[in-house]
Amino acid sequence: MEASALHANRLANRVKLKDAHIITKMTDIAAGLTDVIKLGRGDPDLDTPAHIVKAGQDALGRGETHYGHPLGLPALREAIARNILDQGGANYALDEIVVTPGGQHAMFVIALALLNPGDEILVPCPGYNPYGQAAELADATVVNIRMSMETNFTLTADMVKAAITPKSKVLVLINPNNPTGTVTAPDEVEKIAKLAIEHDLIVISDEIYARLTYGNQRIQPVASLPGMKERTITLSGFSKAYAMTGWRIGYFAGPRELIVAMAEINHAFAISVASVSQYAALAALTGPQDCVEEMRLIYDERRKALCEGLEALGIPYAEPQGAFYVYANVSATGLPASVFCERLLAEGRVLMYPGTIYGDYTDDFVRMSLTQPVDRIREAMARIQTVVNAIRAE
Ligand code: PLP
Repeated sequence: MEASALHANRLANRVKLKDAHIITKMTDIAAGLTDVIKLGRGDPDLDTPAHIVKAGQDALGRGETHYGHPLGLPALREAIARNILDQGGANYALDEIVVTPGGQHAMFVIALALLNPGDEILVPCPGYNPYGQAAELADATVVNIRMSMETNFTLTADMVKAAITPKSKVLVLINPNNPTGTVTAPDEVEKIAKLAIEHDLIVISDEIYARLTYGNQRIQPVASLPGMKERTITLSGFSKAYAMTGWRIGYFAGPRELIVAMAEINHAFAISVASVSQYAALAALTGPQDCVEEMRLIYDERRKALCEGLEALGIPYAEPQGAFYVYANVSATGLPASVFCERLLAEGRVLMYPGTIYGDYTDDFVRMSLTQPVDRIREAMARIQTVVNAIRAE
């Protein structure tokens, strides 16, 4: 037996390597090149604000190096509850909030706690792919709700309605969405909430980018709508709004009866979150909030520069309304987006990801992260032009 076949037999049936594989491959190729403009990962190039870093350092200096409370530092959960309320969300008690090592970890805890084999979970497509992976791990059936450029890749109540079956149990809402950077408007969120009540769905509301919106966009927290708190798990974190990806801290909140079970699974996986990160997150929520607005303005400026560049190149894109991504259709190059990304990296030294990673069924789109300064974004546009010209000349 060949070594690769031998190891393939050793892996459990549930292992379906795909997305992480592409990201690892492209990251490895990029590591072997110089002067790569990285518009790949959703990892801010901006540093964690200094007062947050200092709170982490102080915590270490005080010897905060032990396991913490299984649900998370009480003071942090208090700050989270207050912050959720301040942002127009629901009123959560301290035992309705669980601090986790990142929002991504929370997705798996929530999926394992809610889904039985055969249950259907409705996920926006394209959307943040780990929701599908978490559901598959729970042996649930993933039902992709396909969005398209016609509705600027925003999820609508009609799309949700069309996807609901008697087996539907959970609906994932990601607002603003990754990879599309688009927002579902408050009135549409209200209609979706009514459907959830009508069809007895539990909503996982991912609001991790909620503080990063542009123009007059606003995010309606799902759990604060009438009748929704008892059927919504709100998921969020610190990675995006406070540039804290490497601290690995996030949280989820929901009705007590569900949270008890989820907290037990979370404890089994993680015991507790790094104390240093919890103190840093506490400083993030209780300290000055100007840093969030400063970063939002930076992303907004980059967003405009990138969109201008795409327009000059004649590359269509979904209007980015939130998060820090632009989703663009590169089909006019004549190449599948996944091949275009590989060529762009090799020949233009610009890293971006194909939409297929996020479940896109077309292989026409790429996701560009606004994680480089404006001058580098402009340089990326010039390099794209050169590579597109070379492709067209073939
Ligand atoms: N939710 C969405 C929509 C994301 O895009 C991400 C990360 O990119 C996460 C959650 C997870 O973030 P973290 O685990 O860093 O909190």
